[in-house]
Amino acid sequence: MPTAEHDAVLLDLDGVVYAGDRAVPRAPEAMARLRQEGTPVRFVTNNASRTPQQVADKLVSVGVEAAAEEVLGSPRAAAELLVDRVGVPAGGTVAVVGGTGLLRAVEEAGLRAVPVLEVQERPDAVVQGFSPDLGWRHLAAATRWVRAGVTWVASNLDLTIPTADGVAPGNGLLVHAVAEASGRRPDFVAGKPEPFLFLSAARSAGASAPLVVGDRLDTDIAGGRAAGFTTALVLTGVHGLDDALAAEPALRPDRVLLTLDDLWDSPTRERADEATAALHEAWDALDALTTSPGDASVADDRAALLQEWSARLSPGAA
Ligand SMILES: [Mg+2]
Repeated sequence: MPTAEHDAVLLDLDGVVYAGDRAVPRAPEAMARLRQEGTPVRFVTNNASRTPQQVADKLVSVGVEAAAEEVLGSPRAAAELLVDRVGVPAGGTVAVVGGTGLLRAVEEAGLRAVPVLEVQERPDAVVQGFSPDLGWRHLAAATRWVRAGVTWVASNLDLTIPTADGVAPGNGLLVHAVAEASGRRPDFVAGKPEPFLFLSAARSAGASAPLVVGDRLDTDIAGGRAAGFTTALVLTGVHGLDDALAAEPALRPDRVLLTLDDLWDSPTRERADEATAALHEAWDALDALTTSPGDASVADDRAALLQEWSARLSPGAA
């Protein structure tokens, strides 16, 4: 267990465990150490275009042991949300806009999942997730029920998804199409930065006090905090120290890790915790002093703060 107060570790994938087709430095070693210690691990991803098995296979290919049951995607969180928050009764009908992963997740939650094009009578809810096979007819059918006032759940609102050929439109844009046509917004969203995906992952791990680890403040840290969990920003992905310092209080991580090695009580982590608290305090003081954005003297102070932080975090620091 990295720290005594946590009963599981919930990790984002891209920028935390792998980047593209390669493992993030030190991630395979840290993951192996978590396994060795018997710490429950869950991988948490908004991206529903891969099945849990495909994600697990990718993890194994970069040297990280993983099982499909440990991969928590937004379809499962959306299905649990339909039961827990929307209150769809067992066997209730859900119109599904999405792929087989979402259909299966809704069935596994004890509901009757019907592809939206086959829905004849008013369903108990509409759930919308990503599938590359969605077309205008699916969106039109979803719009009909959403306009009729049926509760509408989206798996996530990611505007783009990464593909082998580059960036492509994500579920968020397809949800927006229905939103524009219906004049409504989804009643619930399962994925990050909402808390439901993290709550679902914690439940799956049997954990009540997990540590959430991610590389983005606006999704991983925001979602982990919304779920009420302790969060750690690992500096191997999208957001850096600079971003953590500048983040509004609600997006600040409890901890900063240089790599996943820092999950364990190490001098580095203790220094990072101290530095985080001290620098946030100093940053707030600077904020209060700033009267004009871009004030040169404040910019200098900020640069000095960043330099101090870097020095304190460097492996050679005392
Ligand atoms: Mg990430």
